[in-house]
Amino acid sequence: MATRVVVLGAGFGGLEVATTVTRECGPDVELTLIDRAEGFVFGFSKLDVMFGRTPPGRVLHRYADLVNPGVRFVSATVTAIDPHTRRIETTAGPFEADLLVVALGADLHPEATPGLLEGGNEFYTVDGAFRAREVLERFDGGRVVVAVTSTPFKCPPAPSETALLMHEFLTSRGLRDRSEIALVMPLGTPIPPSPDASAAVLAAFAEHGIEWHPERLVRGLSDGKALLSDGGELPYDLFLGVPVHRVPEVVAASGMAVDGWVPVDPLTLETRFPGVYAIGDVTSVGTPKAGVFAEGQGAVAAERIVATIRGDAPETRYEGRGICYLEFGHDRIAKVDVTFRAGEKPVGTLVGPSVAFTADKTGFGAERIRRWFGRDWTPADQ
Ligand SMILES: Cc1cc2nc3c(=O)[nH]c(=O)nc-3n(C[C@H](O)[C@H](O)[C@H](O)COP(=O)(O)OP(=O)(O)OC[C@H]3O[C@@H](n4cnc5c(N)ncnc54)[C@H](O)[C@@H]3O)c2cc1C
Repeated sequence: MATRVVVLGAGFGGLEVATTVTRECGPDVELTLIDRAEGFVFGFSKLDVMFGRTPPGRVLHRYADLVNPGVRFVSATVTAIDPHTRRIETTAGPFEADLLVVALGADLHPEATPGLLEGGNEFYTVDGAFRAREVLERFDGGRVVVAVTSTPFKCPPAPSETALLMHEFLTSRGLRDRSEIALVMPLGTPIPPSPDASAAVLAAFAEHGIEWHPERLVRGLSDGKALLSDGGELPYDLFLGVPVHRVPEVVAASGMAVDGWVPVDPLTLETRFPGVYAIGDVTSVGTPKAGVFAEGQGAVAAERIVATIRGDAPETRYEGRGICYLEFGHDRIAKVDVTFRAGEKPVGTLVGPSVAFTADKTGFGAERIRRWFGRDWTPADQ
């Protein structure tokens, strides 16, 4: 009888698990992939849309177009998870799994920051980034504040990239001279595991006159001012915020989360519940919350599931490595190669920034859409 594998969440991590397990196991697996969204959107595509580099219609990869015949995609909201019995309740009915993968990501809560919805914009959800595009279209210059409102948050380089892309955007529209850009970050340096990358980003901020406010958060917005965690205030005309991240409510209710996120064995991605893996942003595995790490963890969970289905002892171990592309604006991109191993200090190296890496980043997106959706795609017109 085929092994029933159920994957909750078709993001970076879930798509990788579903693709690999069905490719390797064929008829020996009955794989169900469940997601409530219409389709997948790369995180970096949100910035592309926000800054008008590509139209919204280009960046949505509809789950209805998934071509892998081994994957049974179910469009539904997961409403309950029993990690003991591996029984799932959804708006499309119940599912039972022999092996379960929880890849539900982090939920975003802009309403948790006082004044953010009324007086600012968040750019981390798909809708928020698409709305911010319209706000930017109308923006006539002034004081721009890009800020993080809580930790942890996805893709720690993204706010720095946003500040740099904002400089490019305002310059190209002739608005830079009458604008200021400030970045508020909880981190001490822009890319903590890579001193070289941090130095390059700080140099770019200095070159472009971007104010850097490290080691603080924005706790709320009031009367056109961002209220900082250190008691300070920053007036703004345009506020772009990274909203509060929380484990999805259905995961919290399942009892799987401890101190906010799902703990896993950092080498195997197994939870404390037999037959239940968790990968990506939903976990507290120790890597940053980013797609490249979710995908790497998905690959390891998938290989371990494949071995289990074949009756072998799973041996693949997670190494904690990921390569991130870092936008500096004006088509200059750097590659940061970082490794987070359990119990060790994270390390990272930088190459670039250079226009030569634009093609690399395009290839990164194209390769995944080919692998997961079986079609040709480029993030923007070349
Ligand atoms: C602006 C921005 C830029 C970024 N840039 C990068 C980058 O350049 N590189 C990089 O590596 N990462 C980047 N990221 C981060 C990256 O997008 C995430 O870390 C990554 O998507 C996490 O993968 P995941 O599989 O854990 O979760 P997700 O990709 O978030 O997938 C979770 C899925 O679960 C579904 N889901 C949640 N709850 C339910 C439910 N109850 N029922 C059904 N379905 C549900 C969601 O619809 C979603 O599809 C960026 C993020 C942002 C916001």
